[in-house]
Amino acid sequence: MAYDVDNAARSLEQADPRDIIREAVAGFDRIALSFSGAEDVVLVDMVADLGGDVQIFCLDTGRLHPETYRFLDKVRDHYGMDIELMFPDAEAVQQLVREKGLFSFYRDGHQECCAVRKIEPLRRKLATVDAWITGQRRDQSPTRAEVPVVQNDRAFSAPGHPLVKFNPLANWSSEQVWAYIAEYQVPYNELHERGFKSIGCEPCTRPVAPHEHERAGRWWWEAATQKECGLHITNIREADIKPVRESA
Ligand code: SF4
Repeated sequence: MAYDVDNAARSLEQADPRDIIREAVAGFDRIALSFSGAEDVVLVDMVADLGGDVQIFCLDTGRLHPETYRFLDKVRDHYGMDIELMFPDAEAVQQLVREKGLFSFYRDGHQECCAVRKIEPLRRKLATVDAWITGQRRDQSPTRAEVPVVQNDRAFSAPGHPLVKFNPLANWSSEQVWAYIAEYQVPYNELHERGFKSIGCEPCTRPVAPHEHERAGRWWWEAATQKECGLHITNIREADIKPVRESA
């Protein structure tokens, strides 16, 4: 029987993130956790504590900070867990770089590069599971302000293959995330100590000032309403997502 997303979203709306993860694991045998290498490690910690067969993966775009690569291995060692690295298609990267160079995103927008380095590997991974867990929070950006705790993933479902997305931290603030990290001594990316808040690829991430929003350091040359790389494209209005759809 198909998973009742609407009912789950209603009943879990105010639930503790651990209860949302429990519900996700109970509902799906093939489920994965997307670990971005930043504070999503809170979810890794919860999954490690709760047990259950959750695949953990990270998109290795080839453009991450050295600190992030070191952090990935630190998390792997700390929890004794496998973190599957998903790499982009080599020929697609070569073609993009051959045609446009290594920094085309500053000129043409980030979506084309993200489509090659993030979306295609993500789509490949999500084709192997029926649900995934993400670290999205409503307070992260205007594009995430209405993220539900459970939703049908319109972007990555395919005919005959519905995909459900769980966002256990949707109701959490950045402060709650960092309180958890401190309380449970969870490892974190050392870049956070140097002013980085939301961490993505090295050329597309910069530190932010204390008064700036945490996503202000991502794709800072673009409008806040466009700051999704395609992983969570369902957060952007239909009218605004044409370039990503076309290149993904
Ligand atoms: S974040 Fe930047 S470097 Fe990384 S995939 Fe997107 S555009 Fe390319």
